[in-house]
Amino acid sequence: MNVKGSVYRADIFDRFRPPDEPPVVANCAQCDGEIYDGDEVKRTPDGETLHNGYGYDCAKEYADLRTFNAMGTINIRGEID
Ligand SMILES: [Zn+2]
Repeated sequence: MNVKGSVYRADIFDRFRPPDEPPVVANCAQCDGEIYDGDEVKRTPDGETLHNGYGYDCAKEYADLRTFNAMGTINIRGEID
């Protein structure tokens, strides 16, 4: 590969990319969707990155799945239905 070839391929790639789309910087550990430069996120101690912006429940869902083992209404015996 030479430098001229690399530049040529980059030019082709840029032609198909919308000009105002920010670069992808990570993939969400919950939904596997792309995370763009400027997105609001949360990062776990293990280094997982999650969407946390308006309209995304990824960080909450990720935490819920790893923190809780039951969800619902508790009854007088302490059972969760
Ligand atoms: Zn996500």
